Amino acid sequence: MRNSPLFYLFQKVSIRLGILKLNAEDLSLLESHFSYYRQLNPKHKKDFQKRLVYFLAIKEFVPRGIEKVTREMELLIGATAVMISFGFQNVTLKHFKRILVYNDNYYSTINKQYHQGEVNPRLGIIVISWKNFVRGMADGTDGINLGIHEMAHALKLENQIHYNGQSNFFNPKRWMDFSVLAKNEIQRIADGEDSIFRDSAANNPHEFFAVALESFFENPQRLKDYDSRLYQALVFLLKQDPMVLMGIPK
Ligand SMILES: [Zn+2]
Repeated sequence: MRNSPLFYLFQKVSIRLGILKLNAEDLSLLESHFSYYRQLNPKHKKDFQKRLVYFLAIKEFVPRGIEKVTREMELLIGATAVMISFGFQNVTLKHFKRILVYNDNYYSTINKQYHQGEVNPRLGIIVISWKNFVRGMADGTDGINLGIHEMAHALKLENQIHYNGQSNFFNPKRWMDFSVLAKNEIQRIADGEDSIFRDSAANNPHEFFAVALESFFENPQRLKDYDSRLYQALVFLLKQDPMVLMGIPK
């Protein structure tokens, strides 16, 4: 059912007709817990709501070791995905149909390690541990945010997956511009120089992208002050400027 084009069309029509929408409780939760949304102007808020309600309609949330995935979990995890893809009108991380939610760090039988979250393109799943997700949101300016990190991995993979009409949305030139700056910064971190990014950002370009997006959305001002060219490269790549969208004075 979820794989059929009719399913997606049905959800879109339901939203257009106003049958499917966020209720007052949903909206007040977003206002109080999701600062990116809170700071958007009214027109962007409406757009964000439509994007979020569609995202929630097409994803299957699966509880793992918890009784159920609550509405709050769905809304905040979904809002994180909508935020990082807000510059791309038609990107919904379509390849990733299921979102698994654990309570806390979970043991992966694949590589015998504890994880806070992961993205598995083969299975089309995004995995989030709720306690770590909340921890990431609780300090909204430290540039550490599990939800943004995992969604960033999913966004980059979605860009590379070539059969569902949602690939190649990154402009190749903008990607190159970002990659050059990313490579420099990875080298700086590897050399032990001071960086606002944690050491794991230097593991590989995929990690750097995910860590960079944590800063870009959580503390755009700090990232811009640290490296304005890197900040601007991400603005062009992601087709949004969080400082402008959130009305942060320059
Ligand atoms: Zn990662």
